[in-house]
Amino acid sequence: MAAGILVLGAVLGGLAWRWEGRASTAAAIRDASGVRWIIDAGHGGEDGGAVSPGGVVESRINLEIARRVDGIFGFCGEPALMLRTEDISLHDPEAVSLREKKASDLHNRAGTASSYPEATLLSVHQNMFQQSRYRGTQVFYAPTQGSQELAQVIQGVVRESLQPDNSRESKPIPDTVYLMNHIPNRAVLVECGFLSNPGEEGLLQDPNYQTKLAAAIAAGCLVGGSASS
Ligand SMILES: [Zn+2]
Repeated sequence: MAAGILVLGAVLGGLAWRWEGRASTAAAIRDASGVRWIIDAGHGGEDGGAVSPGGVVESRINLEIARRVDGIFGFCGEPALMLRTEDISLHDPEAVSLREKKASDLHNRAGTASSYPEATLLSVHQNMFQQSRYRGTQVFYAPTQGSQELAQVIQGVVRESLQPDNSRESKPIPDTVYLMNHIPNRAVLVECGFLSNPGEEGLLQDPNYQTKLAAAIAAGCLVGGSASS
């Protein structure tokens, strides 16, 4: 984690001049619980999410990056809650088929997020496409207040700190993504990279790259976190 902290420090230091005004107004958005961030490692258990042609499963990479973000938030004193900390699905015991389990899992994630309406949801996923040439992080935002601004900040920090050639812009989340459209929270979904791109698939499995990416995402959250407060 030391490398991550160094990266985080460098990222925050590099951006500090630009965001000075905002950072100084970082009055915390807090509900009674104090939870400010809900970290959602996408998929889990039987639902592995995307699987690369080489057999790399999305859900595990999501968890690795989510854990690192959680560690950095902890180091920075930001109260965060992880929706899952293991390779499991969060469905109710009554769910039997994979379809039922997936629906129940997403319903439960939305329920937990909804019970902390003042917290920001950060959903971590990996992308996949038929053609292998596409790569790069892309941040999507929920249709809730402040989400677009936060997504723009995270997209910018990832570009400036890790992916200078990434010209992607943050985008509204499609309305087919259940969780992001059924919560009151400010929310962003980070597609960290493309498992369908062999180069990026390799990077996404590298613990050092996972830490750098987590640091950039966390830095974007912390810098952008004060924007709506
Ligand atoms: Zn996913």
